[in-house]
Amino acid sequence: MRHARSSEVFEKAKRILPGGVNSPVRAFRSVGGEPFVVQRGEGAFLIDVDGNRYVDFINSWGPLVLGHAHPSVVAALHEQAQLGTSFGACHEREVELAEEVQRLFPSLELLRFVNSGTEAGMAVIRLARGFTRREKIIKFEGCYHGHADALLAKAGSGVLTLGLPDCAGVPSAAVSATLVAEFNNIESVERIFAACGDEVAAVILEPVVGNCGLLVPRPEFLAALRKITERHGALLIFDEVMTGFRVHLGGAQALYGVRPDLTMLGKVIGGGLPVGAFGGRREIMEQLAPLGPVYQAGTLSGNPLAMVAGLTTLQEWRKPGVFEMACGVAESLVEGLRSGAARHGVPLVAQSVGTMFGFFFSPTPICSFRETVSTDREAFQRFFHAMLDQGVYFAPSAFEAGFVSAAHAGEAINHALAALDAGFAAAARR
Ligand SMILES: *Cc1c(COP(=O)(O)O)cnc(C)c1O
Repeated sequence: MRHARSSEVFEKAKRILPGGVNSPVRAFRSVGGEPFVVQRGEGAFLIDVDGNRYVDFINSWGPLVLGHAHPSVVAALHEQAQLGTSFGACHEREVELAEEVQRLFPSLELLRFVNSGTEAGMAVIRLARGFTRREKIIKFEGCYHGHADALLAKAGSGVLTLGLPDCAGVPSAAVSATLVAEFNNIESVERIFAACGDEVAAVILEPVVGNCGLLVPRPEFLAALRKITERHGALLIFDEVMTGFRVHLGGAQALYGVRPDLTMLGKVIGGGLPVGAFGGRREIMEQLAPLGPVYQAGTLSGNPLAMVAGLTTLQEWRKPGVFEMACGVAESLVEGLRSGAARHGVPLVAQSVGTMFGFFFSPTPICSFRETVSTDREAFQRFFHAMLDQGVYFAPSAFEAGFVSAAHAGEAINHALAALDAGFAAAARR
């Protein structure tokens, strides 16, 4: 593969953007080498500025459930652009998307749109504190809820990928009310509630963790969190920014049958444009301005372009058979990963939940952040680069989940499966 033009553009990027990127994991720091520079996306594929084509298992880190530049989404955007790109006033598309979201997530009795998952995280914490008149929040090691100060303690995603223990610039006061528990370990939560249960405003988590590799909740873990929060008058917040519409059309709350008080959404609901949302129980959401005393606002919130991209994406995604087909693609990828690793004697655990997948170079299952330290990161690096050479793009980090889209059925998945032997041969080499 030639990368001359990518290198040239990335050199320029590094002169003007910190690290050459606008979000850290894109820089390939944890896998080494240089990122390719994208020229365009086409269904399940990314094409770089040198003309190389890659099967894209990142899909913009989750949002693109239909793949890149889906014709219906492009047509809806084109139509909306001609009618105006931002109003800063009420319009019909925001109501339509809200109704569409609520059909799939009935626990969102009221919801509000913001511009990113990070914003949803900031707002939902403020709202939980405003409603309960308590200050402490419990989060889990390895869960990522965006880059707001209070939520950066022991976070996953880029914080974990780059090995940053805790983030510089976050005042200790901002995280002093953030208590950290261990995912899949209900005793670690019970201990905190026993010590200060009547001060806890909320427990927030990714119900299936995707920012620390893929961690699946043990049976009963989510239900136990529901019980303990109810018992202590604390709110349960599901951050479904990644899992929403992906692990199940109705998110992890539908898949596991646990109803949170508040939910954060993002990624898929914007169909590739910048959107986040949060919502939940009516009496809590009614605390939000203009109805109540908790302030939250946004110049571009409910942006019409973003609303039509999200709406069109969800309408296509929930057509009969589409989601199931994408789940099937994720399953065949996982089977391919397992059998490929076995053929080359490489210890690997792989699984998928709906259209999210993850794998660790480890002989034993990984169920919490702490267990990720025992995974073989060098084997991951060799695998990552060998796959990239074969035209298959996995996340450039051992600690990020992967995503398939409806466009991956057929040519894309077949190409990826055929390339796995080269990937595991490289992983097996020391
Ligand atoms: C991506 C992500 C966020 C942050 O969303 P941004 O739009 O990147 O700000 C929050 N929570 C989870 C679970 C995510 O995966």
